[in-house]
Amino acid sequence: MKVVCPVCNRLFEAECTPYRQSHQEILYYFDTEICMLAFLKEPERFVYKCRKEET
Ligand SMILES: [Zn+2]
Repeated sequence: MKVVCPVCNRLFEAECTPYRQSHQEILYYFDTEICMLAFLKEPERFVYKCRKEET
């Protein structure tokens, strides 16, 4: 499954990463631990960015 890291917008395979977090019942995948930690610090910032991406 291809997923996009919400922090750095990089496309990667979800099966290839051990970094995942659920936030408000949505599961997010991260390509690196650094991205996951950035997300955990300020999840609202990246969730918002994700939704805005559609435009
Ligand atoms: Zn990333």
